[in-house]
Amino acid sequence: MGIYPRHSFLRQKRLRRTGRAGGPAQVQIHQPLQRLKVSKPGMSGARKVHIKSFGCQMNVYDSHRMADTLAPEGFAETATPEDADLVILNTCHIREKAAEKVYSELGRVRALKQAAARDGRRIVVAVAGCVAQAEGREILRRAPSVDLVVGPQSYHRLPALLARVERGEAVIDTEFPVEDKFDILKAPSREATRARGVSAFVTVQEGCDKFCTFSVVPYTRGAEVSRPVAKIVAEVEHLADAGVREVTLIGQNVNAYHGEGPDGSPWTLGRLLERIADVRGIGRLRYTTSHPCDVEASLIAAHRDLPSLMPHLHLPVQSGSDRILVAMNRRHGRADYLDAIARMRGARADMAFSSDFIVGFPGESEQDFRATLSLLDEVGYAGAFSFKYSARPGTPAAEMADQVPEEVKSERLQRLQAAIDRRQAAFNARSLHRSFDILFEKAGRRPGQIVGRSPYLQAVVVTAPSTAIGDIRSVTITEIRTNSLFGALNATPVRAREPMPAEAGG
Ligand code: SAM
Repeated sequence: MGIYPRHSFLRQKRLRRTGRAGGPAQVQIHQPLQRLKVSKPGMSGARKVHIKSFGCQMNVYDSHRMADTLAPEGFAETATPEDADLVILNTCHIREKAAEKVYSELGRVRALKQAAARDGRRIVVAVAGCVAQAEGREILRRAPSVDLVVGPQSYHRLPALLARVERGEAVIDTEFPVEDKFDILKAPSREATRARGVSAFVTVQEGCDKFCTFSVVPYTRGAEVSRPVAKIVAEVEHLADAGVREVTLIGQNVNAYHGEGPDGSPWTLGRLLERIADVRGIGRLRYTTSHPCDVEASLIAAHRDLPSLMPHLHLPVQSGSDRILVAMNRRHGRADYLDAIARMRGARADMAFSSDFIVGFPGESEQDFRATLSLLDEVGYAGAFSFKYSARPGTPAAEMADQVPEEVKSERLQRLQAAIDRRQAAFNARSLHRSFDILFEKAGRRPGQIVGRSPYLQAVVVTAPSTAIGDIRSVTITEIRTNSLFGALNATPVRAREPMPAEAGG
């Protein structure tokens, strides 16, 4: 794995699981920086940090935790980079396009930094996330305006790393430290939690041991590590206390969760969900992203037994062709995947599913691609994300023969997306005139409107006062426009439920 030399997967796994060895992060001094005035709290008011997140929910959560950790250092969040003292780009490396976006963004930030410098003001620029982890020093070479490169396992060190930057160093910290960042990262204030809304993410698991041949995740996020149950419960209680109503447990491979329970034994995700369902104030639970191989009995039982666990599962399959699934090292076949779906539907008939698909994986023939299209019909998804295969340096698939030409990938992506859109429209159409509990999250685009989510993650717009934000209310769907559902509040009490009719494969 040429581009990931400083943190071989096995070494991380040993260090992070056993707590042996490790020592302090390797913080590298790169080049001296011109010393400009950096505002300090109490001198010219609070400092401001602008954090821009790219990619997945894990990055959104991490960005919040970085902001929480910087708040006691006197940093207030700002929505615009122009007035920031510190700009953090929290990056995604999953596909080439996502990684390249970061460099164009850095071009814009460099211009801001230069303009601020002309006024005698310094903007510190940090690159965090998976691009930071994968590219490390290369970022400083391509974008010398960057002051700090910090990998996902080192966010808790931000205050110390920034102190070094202030002393004129350019710093890279992409180690996998032995200490647990979650023990050190600061909790959000009540105000920060309220400002983020009634639905929150909580990371319960990080990293991936699956080694899909297309994926950079095992290298950028490291080995699978699960947080202990007690710490997750405490975090959820804190969120509930500040008004959060819905929690989505997140992890790169969330259903491989195996964190230590209060009894000292490893708990499954199903058991964790059961415990969190007891937290007062939490009306809804979700989790993402799951791997088909880790759909085990306690998770299925949780869907059967917990009314607050929403009947929607994002279960990426990537391809409908067994040949391609083998080449991807997915460790499951089409039949295993369909079996996982059937077991879930057996526990809860109205379960809805979504997936991720990759088209144009090396060696994918028209016949393989058609197998993906037929799987779409067989499952009857509520929605899906689809991507053109993107060769990532250092991953096995990037070295495979039979790379699929770009124009073939584009043509297949178009066909797949059209099929997904038809499926999603059919799923939404079945919602018409039905009643669901909706959790209202925010004001709508038009005055007097508020927007919420159905149990199946559909956006639903109603005309209602904004005081209903945070409530779970029964709504009848009255109209469907493209992918937006419109509805009217019912007089019936909370938790009235008329589930979607089961539609296996339809
Ligand atoms: N836990 C998920 C799984 O393996 O089932 C992985 C989530 S990944 C962060 C998000 C999605 O990005 C993947 O499910 C996959 O569809 C897509 N993806 C990952 N690597 C890719 C690549 N090299 N090219 C194109 N799409 C990719």
